[in-house]
Amino acid sequence: MIYTLEGHSLKHAVEEMLFHLLPTVTLTQADAVQDGAYCRSRLEERDGIAQACAVACIDGMTRESVRSASVEGLPPLERKRVVTELVKTTVYEAVVPALSQPPVWGSLTGVRPAKLARGLIERGMSRGEAAQHLREHFHVTPARTALTIRAAATAMTLDRAIGTEDISLYVGIPFCPSRCYYCSFVSATTAQSGHLIEPYLDTLCGEIAQTAALVRAAGKRVQSVYIGGGTPTTLDEAQLTRLLKTLKQNFDFSHLREYTVEAGRPDTITPGKLHMLRAAGVGRVSINPQSMDDAVLAAIGRRHTAADVLRAFDQARQAGFSVINMDLIAGLTGDTPERFARTIDTLLGLSPENITVHTLAIKRGADLTDKAAAAAQRESVSRMLDGASEALQAAGYGPYYLYRQKFTAGGFENVGWCRPDTECFYNVTMMEELQTILSLGAGGVSKRVDRDTGWIERTNNPKYPLEYIRAADRLAEGKRRLLFPNR
Ligand code: SF4
Repeated sequence: MIYTLEGHSLKHAVEEMLFHLLPTVTLTQADAVQDGAYCRSRLEERDGIAQACAVACIDGMTRESVRSASVEGLPPLERKRVVTELVKTTVYEAVVPALSQPPVWGSLTGVRPAKLARGLIERGMSRGEAAQHLREHFHVTPARTALTIRAAATAMTLDRAIGTEDISLYVGIPFCPSRCYYCSFVSATTAQSGHLIEPYLDTLCGEIAQTAALVRAAGKRVQSVYIGGGTPTTLDEAQLTRLLKTLKQNFDFSHLREYTVEAGRPDTITPGKLHMLRAAGVGRVSINPQSMDDAVLAAIGRRHTAADVLRAFDQARQAGFSVINMDLIAGLTGDTPERFARTIDTLLGLSPENITVHTLAIKRGADLTDKAAAAAQRESVSRMLDGASEALQAAGYGPYYLYRQKFTAGGFENVGWCRPDTECFYNVTMMEELQTILSLGAGGVSKRVDRDTGWIERTNNPKYPLEYIRAADRLAEGKRRLLFPNR
């Protein structure tokens, strides 16, 4: 599809909306429309009124949408937000009648719908009014609106427990025993990069000591720790022990309310590691089957079976973990709504405190040229998610956080479900950007959140293990700038 921009340069906004609505279509910007499918987006401003117009021609039918809003006297950032929304909404309204089904998230393309809802509530709307706004203004379905409002309410409750001095820590271990076919993370396999684990740990322990000194000097308190990856339990017991000891020796954990380690793959879990984690104060582990169907596990390149997951879960309970999360992915190769429903049933039989249901992310430019196959996949994922939502709610789980990845199959979402009072504090604060999070290790993105203004500043660690190891003497600089912004 060709698209043109007139009177504005909001290319990203237009492309994002078109991809959201037409993920199988190749987009090309042009100066003028030609025969065939196109979308023209125009923006004009006169007498303090911005007016956006989109005209879309799809399958020989042409449709137009026009919207306007006052931008009189708005500060530049707010003006940009208003006109971007106008442009996106008009593109949405011009294109959506051509679809067999509108997206469940309507015209919302952002990754944090609950943060948007929280903003509406904090600016004075009741929860009911915010829900109505999501449904009527953004065309979000009632089911997704309900999810969003519940996640926003959880975030608002946890927000009250965060003081200005409270921060959280993320520690990344970007190694895995093998690579899953669908993986979109930076993670190295032990076969290729196992020799880097020891030097990586050396660098990480150095970064821990430097960061802890900065945290102490800034008078900050650590509220939660999340060790993720990759698969942290790829480390052997001695390496894990060293990591956790280093954390404990350097940081003051007396204000810690949550300590999570992703034990991701059952083929990396041993009773010895679990007991060591528990003894070190870890209270929450994540054991991630993704599917409990052996054929699906084999199709996605996991080197374990469903029985291995059951064994790892049992070992975690025996080690004393009272909060266990299990991740699933809807839309994996070879999975069907019926198989996915059996996976959910099996997990419910285990009664983990948290179950996180992800949607498979598809990369932009992935081979989606077969429109019929893409539509069938969307339909299949939709049934998986609806079935999961129904079964989880019937079993007493509620949604506590959600986020959307760009370019997920069908534009769906990832939702964390929990039994009452077992929500993961870190997941909520990280996704809702409620507090400063310092990220240690390769690929870590640290964010300073100004809780008064909402202003966010970021600093990134090098992405890959080798780059990270080579940057050992520079790792504290970014965090120093975040913690001492005025020096
Ligand atoms: S376990 Fe997770 S991080 Fe590791 S390869 Fe699989 S999807 Fe990627």
